[in-house]
Amino acid sequence: MTGLAASWISGRPAFEAAPLPGGICRCYYLRPGQAEPARTAPEDNSAYRFENGGGHWVFGGDRVLNAALGGFANWRRYRRKSSVFFPESKLFVPYPLQYNLRYLDPTLASWALDEMRRAPTAPASQGTPTMASWMEQVFGATLTDLFFGPFHELYTAGLWREIAPQDGYKSPVDLSLVERGLREDVPEAGYNNTFLYPEGGLSAFADALAARADVRCGMRVVRIDTAARAIEFEDGSTVDYSQLVSTLPLHHMLALTGLDAGERTDPCTAVLVLNVGGVRGADCPDDHWVYVPRSRSGFHRVGIYSNVDSGFTPAGLDNRASFYVERAFRAGQAPESAEVAAYSQSVLDELLEWGFLESAEAIHATWVDVAYTWSWPGSRWRETAMEKLAEAGILMTGRYGKWKFQGIADSLRDGMLAGASLLAQS
Ligand SMILES: Cc1cc2nc3c(=O)[nH]c(=O)nc-3n(C[C@H](O)[C@H](O)[C@H](O)COP(=O)(O)OP(=O)(O)OC[C@H]3O[C@@H](n4cnc5c(N)ncnc54)[C@H](O)[C@@H]3O)c2cc1C
Repeated sequence: MTGLAASWISGRPAFEAAPLPGGICRCYYLRPGQAEPARTAPEDNSAYRFENGGGHWVFGGDRVLNAALGGFANWRRYRRKSSVFFPESKLFVPYPLQYNLRYLDPTLASWALDEMRRAPTAPASQGTPTMASWMEQVFGATLTDLFFGPFHELYTAGLWREIAPQDGYKSPVDLSLVERGLREDVPEAGYNNTFLYPEGGLSAFADALAARADVRCGMRVVRIDTAARAIEFEDGSTVDYSQLVSTLPLHHMLALTGLDAGERTDPCTAVLVLNVGGVRGADCPDDHWVYVPRSRSGFHRVGIYSNVDSGFTPAGLDNRASFYVERAFRAGQAPESAEVAAYSQSVLDELLEWGFLESAEAIHATWVDVAYTWSWPGSRWRETAMEKLAEAGILMTGRYGKWKFQGIADSLRDGMLAGASLLAQS
């Protein structure tokens, strides 16, 4: 998305390794009973529409960005509905947990409130906390044991006790909302309560953006000679450059250029996305996604595409639901196909037990190798790596180029700015 936006604004070529543009922001289609997915929708719409990286909903667009997006697709707006789900008790607590304590056992809720009241007001200002120590400090032992700890154990593939807290750690918990949430619904505020999704799916948007850009697909970069300012591709061809913007993951760019940041590389985690379609179970919630602190199969989030839009399920079939189930792995620890098959069966069994699914008829897994980027506490690796690359004439941007947690809207903004920067420098 970042590269497409940069090329659209600047008119400069974007070189993409994959055969189609969009990265993980693309859909694919699977008919009931079929194993092999198709890139395009069948004319009779008889297939499930799944996404490469699981459901991608566009949050955080402001009016200016949304007006620009309007030139590429018809966007529908949806109101977010998500919960924390405790499988053992089948309890759903609306997101965010800390503002909905009235759903918990009253004793637990009052312990949680007491602990949050006692939390220091500026937890992140001193020392170099880890994600785990920050969480325990802000949410207290009760909520950390109940949800935040086990959830983050799964979500970070066990890294949460070693890595720094993510950006959001600078915003403290609002105690007045915690207290209000003990008695009544806390009104939601801000842009992130709604999200946009393009009619016809994300691929239609990626293709429309690519059509206005200069995207050269199937061009995998294998080496960059920063002295000669030349890019070498897998097919042996080369291209010289005077200005280069890169949206590749930061550690991959260091490897391609042979540059060294001289520090321990910050970690990243991968995600296995299991897409599942079938007959909707009697206890399937209306949520767009649920966060789970524990699952036998090891996943941390279950998204329900069909609760966002019925266009994700095959036309003409009643009572269908479709899911994306996410499980994190340490980088480079991709499971073998036999493990994926066993895991898929385990997920199906769990969704059946939970009553989310009655029977499955379409199932397919995708692997996102660099999905979430993290930092070691106090690390300067990210800044140093970006600086080294900038000295070599390469500007890093986008979620993975900047090694930063952000969504599509911010990635598009980054790309538009990078495109403008290329134009301004010429
Ligand atoms: C599991 C998951 C769920 C998410 N959910 C949401 C969501 O609901 N909403 C949201 O807004 N955002 C979501 N995101 C974030 C969103 O996916 C990113 O913000 C966005 O994809 C970043 O786009 P990008 O162009 O910067 O990076 P990428 O999409 O990674 O683009 C980089 C491109 O470089 C190409 N490439 C890689 N190596 C090479 C090479 N050697 N040569 C040439 N090309 C190469 C890749 O094929 C890719 O197309 C989610 C991310 C994950 C992992």
